[in-house]
Amino acid sequence: MNHDFLPELAPFRAEIQDFLAAELPADIGARVLAGKRLRKEDITRWQRILHRRGWGAPSWPAEWGGPGWSTLQQIVFDDECAQAGAPPQIAFGLRMLAPVLMRFGTKEQRNRHLPGIANGDVWWCQGYSEPGSGSDLASLKTRAVRDGSAYVITGQKTWTTLAQHADWIFCLVRTDSAAKPQEGISFVLIDMHAPGVSVRPIITVDGEHEINEVWLDAVRVPLDQRVGAENQGWTIAKFLLGHERSNIAGAGVAKRELARLRELAAKPGTDGRAALDDPLFAARLAQLHIDALALEITQLRLVQREGPPGSESSMLKILGSELLQRISECLVHAAGAAALPFEHAAFEPDFDPVAGDDAALLAAKYGNLRKLSIYGGTNEIQHNILARALGL
Ligand SMILES: Cc1cc2nc3c(=O)[nH]c(=O)nc-3n(C[C@H](O)[C@H](O)[C@H](O)COP(=O)(O)OP(=O)(O)OC[C@H]3O[C@@H](n4cnc5c(N)ncnc54)[C@H](O)[C@@H]3O)c2cc1C
Repeated sequence: MNHDFLPELAPFRAEIQDFLAAELPADIGARVLAGKRLRKEDITRWQRILHRRGWGAPSWPAEWGGPGWSTLQQIVFDDECAQAGAPPQIAFGLRMLAPVLMRFGTKEQRNRHLPGIANGDVWWCQGYSEPGSGSDLASLKTRAVRDGSAYVITGQKTWTTLAQHADWIFCLVRTDSAAKPQEGISFVLIDMHAPGVSVRPIITVDGEHEINEVWLDAVRVPLDQRVGAENQGWTIAKFLLGHERSNIAGAGVAKRELARLRELAAKPGTDGRAALDDPLFAARLAQLHIDALALEITQLRLVQREGPPGSESSMLKILGSELLQRISECLVHAAGAAALPFEHAAFEPDFDPVAGDDAALLAAKYGNLRKLSIYGGTNEIQHNILARALGL
């Protein structure tokens, strides 16, 4: 089932589809569609292809080298990329740090950092969370002490996604311990290759290396690598989180995974019956389709409002993350025993790749996707934000 809620953008959509058909490397697309592991090279190769076409930074205004698209055009672009199996663009530089630099950074900071983000040469990660400071982010303890023209920074960040690939990290650090927690935080940019920075892997439930601890041991950071005024970090942090959450809806990915679910559910299992033959399963699938449409419409409605992302991005975060988690649960259900990890039959040459080979990854993926309701601020916290906005 495919609804086009933006018929006026049909020519634009067709342009994106033609580009994807011609330019998305087949090996990368196949890996994404099968839910396999992506390598750093896959992501940067695709970023460079997009950059060559002028689409490397879809959300940026033209003055900073973006295509200057409207928000609706960006949504169409994301939607088509996800459905075609393009790798996700890494959001840390493109969609989190870049808007911060455009709004709060100096001209030198923008000139230095924006080009490398757009062309895929420089990989960024996000150093917000610390042990004990996740939801309660304002309690963070990483300390930055002035020493001449630099800060000396010591502390530990955690859950840092893909830090093992990163060249730079944007961090929240405490520059005033005497002030109220929110008033003593600054936003700094740290070179991951600077002396005193070390990265330790955290292995997730699916056995993958996606997140890390980042240790900062007396790292010297020049004062001109602070973004905004000293102790203005909390304002910047909140501005950035609004952008993080509004891009987290994942409506295009939901459509892609629903198509995959439908295909898998229509295939007969070992007992000769397809999951779709079960009316209860068919009803669950129908409900997922309805919820995906509702998410898409809600997103389109919200982005057409004036002003920066506000508490409504919390709504998209909750709806989008829960939908993808429910789809992944149904995928495991539809694949049945084939979704069990370490399915030895997957090694057999005549093993059906749709019902078997790819299905062997589904349980791991199911485990991995529990993260969606935790990162970017947990869904409980998003409910709190919405409740406050509604005056409850
Ligand atoms: C896969 C993954 C990747 C991540 N990547 C990054 C990254 O790149 N950079 C980064 O900085 N961080 C990252 N994070 C960290 C993420 O933002 C935090 O995990 C998140 O904010 C929750 O913090 P916490 O883990 O300390 O849990 P806690 O804050 O300790 O929460 C524990 C539980 O208590 C609940 N809770 C806490 N406070 C309240 C409250 N006031 N009301 C109701 N319930 C509450 C939470 O909802 C949760 O269920 C990542 C996390 C994950 C899982």
